[in-house]
Amino acid sequence: MRLAVLKERRPGEARVAATPDTVKKLTALGLTVVVESGAGAGSSIPDSEFAAAGAEIAPDAAAALSGAGIVFKVQAPLGPGEGDVDEMALIPRGALLVGTLGAYGNEDRTRAYAERGIDACAMELLPRITRAQSMDVLSSQANLAGYRAVLEGATAYGRGFPMMMTAAGTVPPAAVFVLGAGVAGLQAIATARRLGAKVSATDVRPAAKEEIKSLGAAFIGVESEETAAAQTSGGYAKEMSEDFKRRQAELMAETVKKQDIIVCTALTLGRAAPKILSAEHVASMKPGAVIVDIAADAGGNCALTVPGEKVVTENDVTILGWRNWPSRIAVASSALYARNLLTFLTAFWDKDGKKPNLKPEDEIVQGVALTRGGAVVHPAFAPKPAAAA
Ligand code: NAD
Repeated sequence: MRLAVLKERRPGEARVAATPDTVKKLTALGLTVVVESGAGAGSSIPDSEFAAAGAEIAPDAAAALSGAGIVFKVQAPLGPGEGDVDEMALIPRGALLVGTLGAYGNEDRTRAYAERGIDACAMELLPRITRAQSMDVLSSQANLAGYRAVLEGATAYGRGFPMMMTAAGTVPPAAVFVLGAGVAGLQAIATARRLGAKVSATDVRPAAKEEIKSLGAAFIGVESEETAAAQTSGGYAKEMSEDFKRRQAELMAETVKKQDIIVCTALTLGRAAPKILSAEHVASMKPGAVIVDIAADAGGNCALTVPGEKVVTENDVTILGWRNWPSRIAVASSALYARNLLTFLTAFWDKDGKKPNLKPEDEIVQGVALTRGGAVVHPAFAPKPAAAA
């Protein structure tokens, strides 16, 4: 069976869904791996390294996808009118497509996979269970995004992070505040601590308080019965009440104005990012302060974030609202992402038949499978029984 790895064509995407290391392991499964020429360029992997690992190099997307039974992507393939190549039209009927497909908000795309007979798996929907941890693309990518965000924040900030005692005087440590202590936030806390900053953080999940403290940061937060119940069984945060938001905002007002760097990582699955920092909060901040909003892809945690842009406010606060933070550290994020996909495929690999066997009753498959055999099968996107009747 042929497995195609395409060059990512969506703007700002530097990652790739396979590496020479995973190509070797995919080949060992019995697959012929075909990599589109230039697919690894954004992640510093030349065609020659893919070829040395055993991949065929195809000159373009059409050649890579010709006869493919499996397609590995980082982002969703381009559809008609989305770019110079209609990648979706080139995917053979019956092929398995695996990627972070952005299923929420792109329901028409999911219907198109079904219509074209593509069995699509959206890896961002992977259930947060122990068995799936090594396939968890959101975790692997968020971890690196959190790290990168702190480094970019540090670079945009005109002073150092650690306290420095020099003959010319003492430089105080930077105060870093992290909004949201999930995977990205915890890595941001750890990174800022390693650089010597004074770190505090907040989160609505009750478990986060101990996680924040265990990394040596101070917990900032409103504590109430609501926060004790703020986590879904899937490990995601719930949308909080208006009362909670008001009390949190008051505490934020006090905290925010003292900060040098704020790293925003708060997300609620499938929804717009919660707006935690208002324009007034930003106006209260010190000149030269930096906000790094890695929630920008979901609209951002700061009211003044412009997704995809760097904004400098009137009071000289820099807001970095870049999209796709994992792509800004693409060599590492590609390596981990490629590993996640390899682990997923290996877990559902029929060794004798040398083909994937995604058991429909498996919890992981149920979590990620959008379409199968020409139908939308994911419970969140399948036609509702009433509508079908
Ligand atoms: P996420 O990216 O969905 O959200 C980031 C963080 O923002 C979360 O901690 C969330 O609680 C927080 N948040 C949401 N709204 C907020 C608000 N209004 N104010 C402050 N914070 C807010 O989360 P994530 O990083 O994917 O991880 C969520 C949880 O899942 C974590 O506890 C993580 O450890 C857990 N997890 C478990 C597994 C597993 O068991 N396999 C894998 C990955 C993550």
